[in-house]
Amino acid sequence: MENEYYPHLFKPLDLGFTTLKNRVLMGSMHTGLEEAKNGYKKMAAFYAERARGGVGLIVTGGISPNLQGRVAPFSSQLSFPWQVKHHKKVTKAVHDEGGKICLQILHAGRYAYHPLSIGPSTSKAPISPFKARGLTKLELKKTIWDYANCARLAQKAGYDGVEVMGSEGYLINQFLVKRTNKRKDEYGGSYENRMRFALEIVEAIRKKTGPNFIIIFRLSMLDLVEDGSQWEEVVELAKRLEKAGVTIINTGIGWHEARIPTIATMVPRAAFTWVTEKMKGEVSIPLVTTNRINHPKIAEDILSSNQADMVSMARPFLADSELVNKAKEGKAEAINTCIACNQACLDHIFERKIASCLVNPFACRETELKSTPAKIKKKIAVIGAGPSGLAFSVEAQKRGHSVTLFDKGNEIGGQFNYAKKVPGKEEFYETLRFYNYELKNYGVDIKLKTMVTGDELNDFDEIILAAGVHPRKLTIEGSDHPKVISYIDVLTEKVKVGEHVAIIGAGGIGFDVSDYLLHSDESHEPSLEDFLSRWGVDRSNESRGGIIDKDLPKPPRKITLMQRKKTRLGKGLGKTTGWIHRTNLKENNVVMLSGVEYEKVDDIGLHIKVDGRSDVIACDHIVVCAGQLVNQDLKEKLESLNKPFHIIGGALEAGELDAKRAIDQGVRLALEI
Ligand code: NAP
Ligand code: SF4
Repeated sequence: MENEYYPHLFKPLDLGFTTLKNRVLMGSMHTGLEEAKNGYKKMAAFYAERARGGVGLIVTGGISPNLQGRVAPFSSQLSFPWQVKHHKKVTKAVHDEGGKICLQILHAGRYAYHPLSIGPSTSKAPISPFKARGLTKLELKKTIWDYANCARLAQKAGYDGVEVMGSEGYLINQFLVKRTNKRKDEYGGSYENRMRFALEIVEAIRKKTGPNFIIIFRLSMLDLVEDGSQWEEVVELAKRLEKAGVTIINTGIGWHEARIPTIATMVPRAAFTWVTEKMKGEVSIPLVTTNRINHPKIAEDILSSNQADMVSMARPFLADSELVNKAKEGKAEAINTCIACNQACLDHIFERKIASCLVNPFACRETELKSTPAKIKKKIAVIGAGPSGLAFSVEAQKRGHSVTLFDKGNEIGGQFNYAKKVPGKEEFYETLRFYNYELKNYGVDIKLKTMVTGDELNDFDEIILAAGVHPRKLTIEGSDHPKVISYIDVLTEKVKVGEHVAIIGAGGIGFDVSDYLLHSDESHEPSLEDFLSRWGVDRSNESRGGIIDKDLPKPPRKITLMQRKKTRLGKGLGKTTGWIHRTNLKENNVVMLSGVEYEKVDDIGLHIKVDGRSDVIACDHIVVCAGQLVNQDLKEKLESLNKPFHIIGGALEAGELDAKRAIDQGVRLALEI
């Protein structure tokens, strides 16, 4: 029966030998569970929860077909029959929940982070310190065999199919383009030759696994690097892959070494579906589109306008394992939306930690963090409706406690209310929408515009102080000059900021405020066209690799961003997003100064000293983004109440605070209390 809310999303997809129950593919994500202690048990729980949540087809994180192909020295590999039994735990758990799952085969090629790395020819990737050695012909043939062997073992382990990773700049992608393939034999030179490796892999897999096994090929439709593929070549490869036995083509956007953001928050939603759409009609097998699709309505629009046959979402299933079921029941407002921050998923992977999710600390902790009904039901007061207070309140109420949430503001959200104003961070609105829904859904008693003094807390069993932070003020001579304003004055548009601006403090907020001020006052929301032209993406997809010169609009302000430390500005920003912020500021001629001593403010501007030399930054405004201080005004009062109380979030420790830590603390305390 047709789904009344998202009919296209819930239309089954008939693959001939098997049928997918809907059009949602959970895209491949390396979570770190692959290499963790008891990893298969943990993966089984992780994927089973997503299968129970209604996903049509799951793709695992990348697994190497051999030793050289591992992404890092201890990354997982599937090459031996004895490994099959471990994978069976995963496939059984998914099948028991009515799901389907494919194993992604990923050979890192020259992206491998170890000395055994190989490539089509000898070269070094800019994102790996190791030089890759060119494969000999014999090794190349053996690698093709390894792919087929891996697929056969996956089939024995009960996987419904495999995804062959042919994009993002990994080995197969490296064979496809002259940028990385300098071979002189029949696997290099002409495009016919460069395609051969990919096609022989698919043919070998099909031969070994038979006709009733899903083969997804993740095809790089837009490389976003110089000397990448040309569109005609991509189409030619797609057609040949279909003939070679591929069941589904998934879209890959951008190599990992590309310097164009493809999944971060500032990338508009569904920013690359036009690429897949261009492929429609060229092949007759289903096409999957991807990147920054995080809401069922967007997915439905893509499918109903025939841009693709399926949509891939990956991170949104870290944020909410129940996304599909909620959409099916028409409860989109109940979805915990992925805000594309990368802070707890990709950044964790780059820091060699197990992935999780900023808005959902349960992700990848399915066997450790469990929400069970509270044994003793308590009356709990929470002071502060910022991220930590919200996370605590929802989880504690869900467990059966009776929570009253106080906040002096007239809306929930705390610091989120400033973050959501930053261009490209509008997804924070979704987090607030989600918390508003959850508070109501579980029946938390919300008391806004309420300044807690202490007396109203007498009736509660326990108290949670989550009163957050307040901005650190400047204390140098002239700090009370009208030119000196806080980042809050900027983001709440309390002050009309002038053309020449000095920013004190280059942490997350200093960068965000710079970005905010670089957008003209009229247009804070970047459109898709603006995004593509600003980052030099060729919308017509005619140029090699899909890149053209960037069209950078003239910055509306002249900004100087400063810190006292001598280190590079933005060093502490997220691993996967920091470069985007730094590039953006650099390309907008923001002057970045480190090792600055702030001396005084007067009518001219900000007087500073750098390397012992005095200087003055003539400016209209000095925006203070100098970090945060703890809000613990009520601490003494709480101590005198003689009741158990807990401090969480910024109120506990303001330094280096971010929403990830705040939400995690809130949830963990709620699970214990
Ligand atoms: P922050 O990241 O700790 O940065 C504070 C900045 O103020 C630093 O540049 C620091 O540099 C400077 N500073 C500290 N004390 C100062 C003083 N007494 N006088 C002058 N300058 C001083 O804090 P934030 O920017 O307020 O951000 C708050 C939290 O939100 C951070 O933890 C951040 O990670 C998070 N956040 C994250 C993002 C993100 O995109 N991930 C975005 C926004 C905010 P010096 O000490 O070298 O001068
Ligand atoms: Fe999405 Fe951020 Fe969660 Fe990653 S950490 S899944 S990007 S919300």
